[in-house]
Amino acid sequence: MKFTAIVLAGGSGSRMQSGTPKQLMSVLGRPLLYYSLAAFEKSPVTNIVLVTPAGEEGTYLSEFRGYGISKIVCAAAGGAERCDSVYSALQAIRENHIPSDFVLIHDGARACVTQEIISDMMAAAETYGAAVAAVPTKDTVKIADSEGLVGETPDRSIVWNVQTPQAFATDLVCAAFDAMYEKTDGSSPRGITDDSMVVERYGGTKVKLVEAAYTNIKVTTPEDLPLCEGILRQQGWT
Ligand code: C5P
Repeated sequence: MKFTAIVLAGGSGSRMQSGTPKQLMSVLGRPLLYYSLAAFEKSPVTNIVLVTPAGEEGTYLSEFRGYGISKIVCAAAGGAERCDSVYSALQAIRENHIPSDFVLIHDGARACVTQEIISDMMAAAETYGAAVAAVPTKDTVKIADSEGLVGETPDRSIVWNVQTPQAFATDLVCAAFDAMYEKTDGSSPRGITDDSMVVERYGGTKVKLVEAAYTNIKVTTPEDLPLCEGILRQQGWT
């Protein structure tokens, strides 16, 4: 079975409040994006498709190949929304005939992903066809109403925080994204915050929650950076 990792680094990272794009910010002396690429390089996935800001595909390709990431087969141009960036990568897989039974879609900003998480997601993709890395919520979650008042409190024991990788049979996820973009006439759909949502709505397949790790954080705001460095150090990076 062939697995392709789609590593997303096409966002602007505006919540980092930094002049440097988030994915290129220095963490333990290397760009943040390096660590998730290195994890997939070391893993059993066959190929990596890297999504970059539009127009910067060549620069990213040479920079990260220069860091020894040899599994990157192509770079795809990111879009306005995260799901546009994912669709760009799925189209690149089809257009370039990249052999791929399953895809693992991963936020480049989740630098602390481990080999165990990657192999668990690969196994779940084969078993279920659709699976997401997740952790049971530690906090009680409130659903707000339109006035910012508490509308509802879901039972915490069934609430999960969803992460990446999200793993799917390639045919299934491509068909779901095609169906979604057909409905929007090709324009960016609103409110799609992860890939599983697309498969839940358009794929006709139940998605398996796979317990990952609380350390598989996404670097989003400035206070995440020291946390990320600490976790990487614990994992043996210096
Ligand atoms: O913005 P957020 O942190 O949720 O983004 C998650 C991942 O998706 C990041 O690695 C980011 O670079 C990527 N992304 C993308 N294209 C976008 C928006 C986000 O590739 N338009």
